[in-house]
Formats: sequence, structure tokens, C-alpha cells
Amino acid sequence: MGETIIPLADLRYAAALPPVPADAPAPNGLLSDRLGRALRDLRISVTDRCNFRCTYCMPKELFDANYKFLPQSSLLSFEEITRTARIFVAHGVRKLRLTGGEPLLRKHVEDLVAMLAALRTPDGEALDITLTTNGSVLARKAQALKDAGLQRVTVSLDALDDDTFRRMNDVDFPVADVLEGIAVAQAVGLAPIKINMVVKRGTNEGQIVPLARHVRDRFGPGVVLRFIEYMDVGASNGWRMDEVLPSAQVVQAIDRVFPLQALQASAPGETAERWAYRDGGGEIGVISSVTQAFCQDCNRARLSTEGKLFLCLFAGRGHDLRALLRGTLEGQAYSDAQIAAAIGLIWSEREDRYSELRAAQSPAADPAERRVEMHYIGG
Ligand code: SAM
Ligand code: SF4
Ligand code: SF4
Repeated sequence: MGETIIPLADLRYAAALPPVPADAPAPNGLLSDRLGRALRDLRISVTDRCNFRCTYCMPKELFDANYKFLPQSSLLSFEEITRTARIFVAHGVRKLRLTGGEPLLRKHVEDLVAMLAALRTPDGEALDITLTTNGSVLARKAQALKDAGLQRVTVSLDALDDDTFRRMNDVDFPVADVLEGIAVAQAVGLAPIKINMVVKRGTNEGQIVPLARHVRDRFGPGVVLRFIEYMDVGASNGWRMDEVLPSAQVVQAIDRVFPLQALQASAPGETAERWAYRDGGGEIGVISSVTQAFCQDCNRARLSTEGKLFLCLFAGRGHDLRALLRGTLEGQAYSDAQIAAAIGLIWSEREDRYSELRAAQSPAADPAERRVEMHYIGG
């Protein structure tokens, strides 16, 4: 008998085969987890590869030429992603975010955008579709993405100063190219554009005000800069609490130069706290993932590149949806209804709230299993 060879990469994170309950009710959009949280947002990682080696995400020493990225056969196809997304939409998802790795490195990703843009909610509404990118090839891709139906985009940008930026992406990538990508995205009508800056104390805190000034001056109020606290995701970035700059200090630093006033959150489950420039120059956001846990209304699920479902950014264990998408039960492929029933059960048992537990310094916030890495699951 021939040996079954399982690619090593497939074993990197534990994932259970989801049980498929018989006689589950059809999805009605009212799913809620053990803490009463709805399911509204699906983040889809389309590749685990990236052309950057941001020191806080894919440190070069670990993600070198010997690192085994997922083989092509492990990746969900665009058809599999779209089918999965459709089932999630039936369960109440209204927002899809493509991420990675670097999503724009996935070949023909705009074809996937077009397939997802054709999905409709049970009420016939289009979905909110967005994508998070490092911006390196955005100038080239923005028009095709817009034409395919992408509405908006989030670009990660950690510094305005070229030396600092090159040091942080660690592949010597120039900041001017990312800024150009943002300008092209704006010109083709992707809106609103958000820029995410991860702030690391001692590395790029000096870039907060210069970047805020530049975004205001060059892009105007249509581009919203958001500051993200450096998080302890994964296990490879050597995270230390003393490298986290609390968002409150970011707000203070900007307020000293450009006075701010607090705004209301725009949607339930919104992770960013919003602040407007008092002079009408637009707004900024801060995402205090470390200093102010927002697990209470976390309505996000994450689908990995190889089809594992994770219920929390800090989960160590996923649910192997690809096994259902590609597998059979008694010789029959699983139906959408069966996969929907499996997802319904998974979500209804969810009780993840890692950041809250970390804030409470609970030992439960220290998962025994290896945590999922950010480049694998996306932001
Ligand atoms: N490559 C794309 C990019 O950089 O936008 C998409 C994937 S990346 C993993 C998604 C987001 O996660 C980026 O904005 C990145 O800055 C952020 N990120 C990665 N590691 C992080 C960490 N340790 N703490 C906070 N944010 C992090
Ligand atoms: Fe790549 Fe994004 Fe991670 Fe940076 S943050 S290494 S761009 S996946
Ligand atoms: Fe959601 Fe987990 Fe983040 Fe809490 S720690 S907000 S549950 S992803």
C-alpha cells in the first residue's frame, strides 16, 4: 500500500475536522456565540507569502530561504473561497476582508474580488469588500481591483522616513512606492482609504506626527490614518510589553500639534476609536488591541490560506473547513447546508476573548498550543 504523504506545512497548526450536525436549522443570519456575539466579518487570507519581512511579523531570521510556505495544492481555490464566503454570508457575514501574507501577491487576486463582489446578502445587498495590503504593488494593481468591484483598501505603512521604513520592512523597500500606491488607489476611486501604522516604542514612535502631517497634506480627509498597538500575535516576533506604545499617548502626541476631538464609533464591533481634527482636516483612528481589549463585540472570523477557520487572532487551533470542502461523507461531497451546519456549530461554541484575558492577566491568556502567526492568518 502506498504511503500517504502529508505536506509538512499542513501540520503547522492544529485543526480539528469539524463535526457536521444532522438536522441543524438553515442559516438565518442570527447566529451567536457563547458570549452573545454575532458573526459579521470574515477575513480571508489568500496567501501566506510576502515580499516584506516586517520585523514584527515575519522576521528574516525565521522566514528565510529554508522556510516552507504552503504548497499551491494546499491553498483554497477561488471557487472554494467564494463558496465558503457564500455560506458565511448566509450566516450573517456582511464584510469580507482579503489579507495574507501579501494578498496582492496571489495571482489574479482581482478575479477573486470579482467573484466575491457578485455575492449578495439574503436581502439582495452587496457586501462590504476590502483588502489589506503592504502597498508595494498597489500602484500597478489598483485599477484592476477597482474594476473587479473592490470598494476600498487598507494600506499598512509604518513610517514616512525612508530609512525607518526600509528598516521595518527589512527588504529595503522604498516608502515612496507605497505612497505612490496610495495615490493611485485614491485616483482610481477606492474609498475610503485607510492607512494602518503599527507603532513600536523605540522603533517608529517618532513617525507618528510626521506621517499624520503627510497624510493630511498629501491625501486630505479621504484617507484615514490609524495607529495600531503592537500586538503579541504569533510566537516569532519576540514581543515585549515595553515596546507597546499605548494609543492614549499617540492621541496626545497628535493632539499637541493638530488638536483632536473624539468621534462616535461608526459601527458595532468597530475596532478603531475615532478622533477628528478640530480644523476639519479629516480624522484618525487608534486601535488599542493591547491596552483596551475589544473582545466583547468581536464579530470576526478568520479563514486561513489553506481553509482553516480561526475564531480569534490568538487562537492556537483552527477548524479544518477545507476537509469539508474537499471531503466526502458516505461517498457524497458535503453540501452547502452541511458545511453551514458545521460552521453554525463552531461559532455557537465560540468563547474566545484572548485580549480581555490578557488585560486581566489571566493564565488562560497564555495558550499552551502554538499561536497562529499573523502572516498566515492576516490582520
Ligand atoms: N501584508 C499585508 C499588510 O501588511 O497590510 C496584509 C497582512 S498583515 C499580517 C495585516 C496587518 O497586520 C498589517 O497592517 C500589519 O501591520 C499588521 N500586523 C502584523 N503583525 C502585527 C503585530 N505584531 N502587531 C500589530 N499589528 C501587526
Ligand atoms: Fe508582510 Fe504584512 Fe507581515 Fe509585513 S505585516 S511581513 S507586509 S504580511
Ligand atoms: Fe476578537 Fe480574539 Fe481579538 Fe478578542 S483577542 S478582539 S476575541 S480576535
